[in-house]
Amino acid sequence: MDAFGLDGLDELVRALIADGRRVIGPRLRDNAIVLDDITGVADLPAGWGVDVAPGRYRVRRRDDEALFCHSAGPQSWKQFVHPARRKLWETTETGFEEPPPDNRELAFLGVRGCDLAALGVLGRVVGNRIRPFIVAVDCTEPGGLCFCASTGTGPGVRQGYDLALTERIDDTGHWFLAEAGTGAGERMLRMVTRRQARFDEVAAALRDVTAAADRMGRAMPELDLRELLRDSRQARRWNDVAERCLTCGNCTMVCPTCFCTTTEDVTDLTGEHAERWEHWASCFEVDFSYLHGGSVRTSAASRYRQWLTHKLGTWHDQFGESGCVGCGRCIAWCPVGIDITAEVAALAAERSGDDVDV
Ligand code: SF4
Ligand code: SF4
Repeated sequence: MDAFGLDGLDELVRALIADGRRVIGPRLRDNAIVLDDITGVADLPAGWGVDVAPGRYRVRRRDDEALFCHSAGPQSWKQFVHPARRKLWETTETGFEEPPPDNRELAFLGVRGCDLAALGVLGRVVGNRIRPFIVAVDCTEPGGLCFCASTGTGPGVRQGYDLALTERIDDTGHWFLAEAGTGAGERMLRMVTRRQARFDEVAAALRDVTAAADRMGRAMPELDLRELLRDSRQARRWNDVAERCLTCGNCTMVCPTCFCTTTEDVTDLTGEHAERWEHWASCFEVDFSYLHGGSVRTSAASRYRQWLTHKLGTWHDQFGESGCVGCGRCIAWCPVGIDITAEVAALAAERSGDDVDV
């Protein structure tokens, strides 16, 4: 494994840009860590962390200058591989046109284990139209809503990256352990001023990641969730959660794996120009399940049940894995703080006949 300092990371960003890529990474904006274009290390949110709780997200100053010690923010990488809104075609009196394919070369810097897994899950659904160069970062500081250790998707990054970094700040300074996962990653690593990592440095980085697994704020109950959801179709808990759920759909918008879309046709006032757009949709919308004659999921209870049952149960039938990677976003950005791990625990308790007041 290799090691490099902040200058090396800056060289890496510049090398990716020189390679013709648009580099996206975390930035501090509007009191949140968002994902946007970066041109160097100076754009990264040095010294910023976040505090999260159900229905709450706040950035806070750290007592060091760490660049990647912030848990999941309001956005995920989904927006770049599965845009929130895109034009499918337009037509005028003279012809029909599709927008040119999006051939952007992207590089994602700072992808956590949970989000790396989410890109894989999402890729199985929306395809791999865009194949970014991925610089993943091991998580050494989980947030209060993280539970990727219990979903098997973090805190360390495992596969699917071009380069994997572990950030360390210690007596020797601020540096990164780096490992290439692909030939492209090796090529970019060669462009960086680096040295070979010592055995004790690798061991220390590994300890940080292992310790992060023990500090997760949440855990998904260790159960066969597919079976639990199948058994919970008539659970009373759906009515309980429906009394709190606003059916706003925030959870589906922030979820890095939710992929549902709908299409919308628009025309201008003259009627000479029409466009068809695809945009994200949510199973929490009444119209989402509209068939001829009306919606088949009119109650909040049925819509929440649909979301959870698909996410944790029938997703396995469709894609051979869970739709949840344990990022905790849906808990932080739910305006009433509904916690997916608590709802699963309550369903499990109800099935076993225990008190359901979780
Ligand atoms: S669970 Fe929360 S975020 Fe999701 S629809 Fe209900 S109120 Fe909105
Ligand atoms: S369901 Fe919630 S915790 Fe799971 S991946 Fe989606 S946003 Fe993250």
